[in-house]
Amino acid sequence: MKAHVNLAIFVPHQGCPKDCIFCNQSRITGAERLHRYTEAEIKKMIETGLSTINRNQNVEIAFFGGSFTGLPRSYQRLLLSVAQGYIQSGQVHGIRLSTRPDYITPSIMEFLVSYGVTTIELGAQSLDEEVLLRAKRGHTPEHVEKAVATIRQYPVQLGLQLLPGLPGDTLEKSVLTARQTAELAPDFVRIYPALVIEDTELAIVYREGMYHPLTLEESVKWVGEMWLVFLKAHIPVIRMGLHSSEDLRTPGTILAGPFHPSFRQLVEEALYKRLLKRMMEEISDTGSTGILELTIHPADETSLRGRRNCNLRMIEKGFSGQVILRLDPRCSRRQMNWRFNHGKEVLLTFLDLNFM
Ligand code: SF4
Repeated sequence: MKAHVNLAIFVPHQGCPKDCIFCNQSRITGAERLHRYTEAEIKKMIETGLSTINRNQNVEIAFFGGSFTGLPRSYQRLLLSVAQGYIQSGQVHGIRLSTRPDYITPSIMEFLVSYGVTTIELGAQSLDEEVLLRAKRGHTPEHVEKAVATIRQYPVQLGLQLLPGLPGDTLEKSVLTARQTAELAPDFVRIYPALVIEDTELAIVYREGMYHPLTLEESVKWVGEMWLVFLKAHIPVIRMGLHSSEDLRTPGTILAGPFHPSFRQLVEEALYKRLLKRMMEEISDTGSTGILELTIHPADETSLRGRRNCNLRMIEKGFSGQVILRLDPRCSRRQMNWRFNHGKEVLLTFLDLNFM
């Protein structure tokens, strides 16, 4: 399968009816809020993007950062027609855009598909009514369900974005949101734990002491639980945690919250830790010394070891024998084969983990 790349063009907030309490797309993306791109500017951004990518990739021009289908029709037409020209010339394979669930109707879909839109990402954020209300999203869980049903009538890929940790959210609500999202069967999901960004309503509430964002540790746990739901439903989670852009790293942009440049890595480490603990429980029934052989996919080595080898050190604490770590590309990702004292090999995968 060809690798995928998005040529991102940010149209921050421009199609939004008002601001959701957590959102400041201009801060996150660095794009000016009121600026309307001209045809020449759009082409320049696309050309620059194309010059940096490997042409053997599956390329989509991606209009991110706002509610695309809330933009004036004439501006949508301009953006889409420029992008469509690159599909017709064979330089890109499709168009991706992000929008709100309440801004999808059959006639909007007809319009988008006629320009070659191939992927739609819906900002669902949560499927809990109270969380959506307190985030001032202006839509309900039913809007998400209705939008998904509408999009599914058309030949486009569907992604859903979730934002655990908003005011009123709990671990149970986030896991329930993940389960309900999995039932909607999107093609992929993104999970962005809520952050407090400067110049948002959430920043005011946070400064007043009325909102406490998740700690990094809590968010790793919550997102890990949500990921398990999607893994079990065979739905890819293509992103966990916001991309560490230069704008986001600018001092003063993130006031508080569980930001980490390698957030996904932390979640994988935490789940590997749970697998290792489970293995240790099984080993402790048979003895605490001997030879322990672990085999994993090479790409999972960092996650299995954990930061500064903390996962491996945890094993060594409870076990006085020799630990041999083998890397084998024939192993599947997120699984671990282990063998104790040359006994029978045991397979453990993330799918064996139960919800906590
Ligand atoms: S979260 Fe989405 S709908 Fe809300 S203000 Fe930001 S871009 Fe607009």
